[in-house]
Amino acid sequence: MQDRIDMPEIDPEKRKKNFKEVNKGLTKELAIREAERCLHCKNPQCEKGCPVNVPIKDFIFLIKQEKFQEAIENIKQKNFLPGICGRVCPQEQQCEKFCILGIKQEPIAIGHLERFAADNEKKREASELKDKNKKVAVVGSGPAGLTCAAELAKKGYVVVVYEALHKAGGVLSYGIPEFRLPKNIVEKEVDYIKSLGVKFRYNSLIGNLFSLEELRDEFDAVFIGTGAGVPRFLDIPGEDLIGVYSANEFLTRVNLMKAYLFPKYETPVRKGKKVVVIGGGNVAMDAARSALRLGGDVTIMYRRTKKELPARIEEVKHAKEEGINFKFLASPVEIIGDKKVEKIKYIRMRLGEQDESGRRRPVKIKDSEATMDCDEVIVAIGQIPNPVLERKTEELDFGRWGQIIVDENNQTNIPGVFAGGDIISGSATVIKAMGDAKVAAEAIDQYLKR
Ligand code: FAD
Ligand code: SF4
Repeated sequence: MQDRIDMPEIDPEKRKKNFKEVNKGLTKELAIREAERCLHCKNPQCEKGCPVNVPIKDFIFLIKQEKFQEAIENIKQKNFLPGICGRVCPQEQQCEKFCILGIKQEPIAIGHLERFAADNEKKREASELKDKNKKVAVVGSGPAGLTCAAELAKKGYVVVVYEALHKAGGVLSYGIPEFRLPKNIVEKEVDYIKSLGVKFRYNSLIGNLFSLEELRDEFDAVFIGTGAGVPRFLDIPGEDLIGVYSANEFLTRVNLMKAYLFPKYETPVRKGKKVVVIGGGNVAMDAARSALRLGGDVTIMYRRTKKELPARIEEVKHAKEEGINFKFLASPVEIIGDKKVEKIKYIRMRLGEQDESGRRRPVKIKDSEATMDCDEVIVAIGQIPNPVLERKTEELDFGRWGQIIVDENNQTNIPGVFAGGDIISGSATVIKAMGDAKVAAEAIDQYLKR
């Protein structure tokens, strides 16, 4: 059996100077060779690892037969965002983790093949379906909102998406950088959803422009997919100094507002020379690799070890190849400077007993403080839901950290109001948000058929 085909990439020395996509995509020949490795198992375990039930075995078989258009049509029966998922899903934790071939060899590169199928789709628009005279409002246009909208449009409902920003996509547009997920891919997949008849209303912050009650009056059901877009901070001295960013603000400036092309685009961003990024997840990697591309010498500071890094393996590999430094077992205690960031003070950590998450808890080592020079600090330690809906909606049940409480069908305590994605689970993954949205879309359909 041949080895797993590697994804062709741009050379690290070239790519770290620009925002072009790092992964080049498989050629037809490489995709077919990778598809030929698939065992076409009778009981394909890979499919159990996919929260949206993509028919993985079948689409890989179609690629092997060079039926590329059929392959993408097959995927789209279950997943409206294949070009996005093929690029950003943590496949190593999902489908590929369960691939039977992976027991003895490297699993099939399912994500790379999904991306190949999506990128080779012949431009196709869906035909708009006749509506059933029932209307659904979707709040938020991240992967949860987009998926719920597309599923319901496919079932024939009139769907209107309300989005606070001027563009659709949620984190896909404002968070994940161009070098990992080009924005034309997001636009292409949003356009397909528009061709199903879904209407988008931008610059519409629900809770301010319209209340949830107003949406309930106008629509037969409502889906809330407002994500978790408010950054957590460290709560240490010096966090208000010039040069401290939340990763959200930094990435929004760079991605959505194209600050890396300033002054051609109006939004500026600080270009730190020595940048420290706090955190170890995808957000930290994206912020670090963006700061590097803006000319910084970048260090990621993480309080556990490399083994516990929550970021995708591919992101960590790319970050290292590009020259990002890692400082493990270190936690910031103060940001020092006179108006502007000059240094960061941190304390050394060791790993103690396992915590509730199953990971070993980081413990401070007494009297081990040290400082590091820097002129920019980017905080990437997690996000929580935006409180605007909670403040403005008395009837809806929210949890301790601002998440919306739902039942097993993703219905909230208000009949006809459903929710999914990061707003119910905290920061999670694109595919988890999409899986939630599919459950909700099915339940909305049942609710409206009563
Ligand atoms: P979001 O994507 O956050 O979308 C919510 C949308 O709702 C936004 O557009 C927002 O503007 C809008 N909104 C909010 N409030 C309102 C309101 N009141 N009215 C109207 N609109 C509103 N996951 C992965 O699987 N792989 C990755 O590689 C990955 N990398 C990531 C990198 C970054 C930088 C970040 C921040 C996250 C990353 N994630 C990744 C996590 C993933 O992006 C999220 O889990 C996912 O986007 C959640 O989808 P969502 O639809 O619930 O919310
Ligand atoms: Fe192919 Fe692996 Fe799925 Fe089997 S489990 S069908 S080998 S991708």
